Amino acid sequence: MIREHYDTVKQNIGKDTSLCIVSKHRTPEEILSYYEQGERIFGENRAEELIRKAEVLPSDIQWHFIGHLQRNKVRRILPFVSMIQSLDGIALADVIEKEAARAGRIIPVLAEFHLATEDTGKSGLDVKDADALFAHCAKLKHVRIDGIMAMGPHTDNRDRIREVFTQGRELFDTLKKTYDIHILSMGMSDDYTEALACGSNMVRIGTYLFEK
Ligand SMILES: *Cc1c(COP(=O)(O)O)cnc(C)c1O
Repeated sequence: MIREHYDTVKQNIGKDTSLCIVSKHRTPEEILSYYEQGERIFGENRAEELIRKAEVLPSDIQWHFIGHLQRNKVRRILPFVSMIQSLDGIALADVIEKEAARAGRIIPVLAEFHLATEDTGKSGLDVKDADALFAHCAKLKHVRIDGIMAMGPHTDNRDRIREVFTQGRELFDTLKKTYDIHILSMGMSDDYTEALACGSNMVRIGTYLFEK
């Protein structure tokens, strides 16, 4: 762990924001160094890597899947994940529903939105498809949408970053009027302070916590 960076993050996020430590590409030892500080939420974006690590690390780690999830990987990751942050469509929701029912679990998920439209090729839902997905999932018994996730734009323009996170916050507030959601997952190493200023209550930080 990097003490100085960890202390900075903890100070910046405060008590009401959750920290999801993004541990993709990191070793079990590096993950344990944060586990020993009391951290329990770790994010992975590859199914095989998540399973490999979950099998050797403490069972009270809450693994969040944060990458693009192929439907044929759902069954394999389900026993290990406590949340899927990257729900990007009705078809995937239906597969999670089927597999979660089979496993006798209710899976908390976040709906991932593609807000930074200048970043092409990124996954995530269009805002215009939000209602259809949320209405559909409200009928599913084993999928529970707890909130939304979004990424900031890939730019140094801080105003543009705040603009996108503000859009995420407004979408969250709108959906919250109809649906029982409470997690707004926005912000990574380079933009989490902007995300916090815009109301994020879960940040996903990797690089800054593992690299000097
Ligand atoms: C890799 C990743 C992060 C963490 O990014 P860093 O810049 O390393 O902090 C957060 N969210 C998602 C979805 C990621 O894929």
